Amino acid sequence: MIDLKEKNTEASSSQAFTPTKQDKFASDKEANARKLLSIMLAAIVAFVGIFCIIISRRNRTIEAQQKIAAIQSSTPSEAVNTVPPSPSATNTHSQNVVNGGTIDNPVTITIDEANWNLIIVNSGYRIPVEYEPDLVYVCSSQEQLDRKVAAHYEAMYNAALKDGVTLTPCSGYRSYETQERNFNRKVEFFEGQGFTAQEAKMKAATIVAPPGSSEHNLGYAMDIVCVDEWFEDTAEFKWLTENAADYGFIMRYPKDKQDITKVIYEPWHWRYVGVELAKELKDSGLVLEEYMGVA
Ligand SMILES: [Zn+2]
Repeated sequence: MIDLKEKNTEASSSQAFTPTKQDKFASDKEANARKLLSIMLAAIVAFVGIFCIIISRRNRTIEAQQKIAAIQSSTPSEAVNTVPPSPSATNTHSQNVVNGGTIDNPVTITIDEANWNLIIVNSGYRIPVEYEPDLVYVCSSQEQLDRKVAAHYEAMYNAALKDGVTLTPCSGYRSYETQERNFNRKVEFFEGQGFTAQEAKMKAATIVAPPGSSEHNLGYAMDIVCVDEWFEDTAEFKWLTENAADYGFIMRYPKDKQDITKVIYEPWHWRYVGVELAKELKDSGLVLEEYMGVA
């Protein structure tokens, strides 16, 4: 019985399915078409996916930059006094302290090429208008740093990459003119709010560094912020906190030293000072102003 049934089934199925040459050709063609269609669909899906990832990364970068701009425009960051550097990065705190640098009467510092890594700038102490750093692009990005700093940034970038952390360069060098434009815009904003010219200038300086007074004008600092969340909560920040000093970088404006730096807490802003000094500052907890004796 069983044999018979199987035989019948076999017979009926072979009867129902005796493809002609044309049928076979048609079904092969159909299969190929289906295959081609699925490949095309997969390619479209992959393309759309990659496109979305690129756009979302780009948006996150823009958002992060906007976040920083928002933070900087909502919190005062007044700059103080500063000083040109001393030769050694070792413990000689007796810097050439220049007195009297104010926002109204800033001192133009001399760029001491021998001790370039120790230069401090702020609204009272500014680099010369005509100063032009030797700039290079870093890590195949659109951002530039002073050539002397760039190599150190790239070394740090590559070391972090090995640990699975990407220290995306978001804002490096800024020209004197860009800084001036940003600053003047802020002054105009406050004048529009009804402040006198002097008041507007003072208020603007707490938010945007006057031209020549930003570490970005020197090409010594990089804002590393290409993330969506608060930078302090990121793997990038954790890595930098643990390792940046080994590459000569310091977090220039720590949270607990705002009264000394007169600049808001900026966990994304990393400045090159050299390995020796970076380690010393990290170990001692001092900021550059304290180290230089101008706090
Ligand atoms: Zn910065």
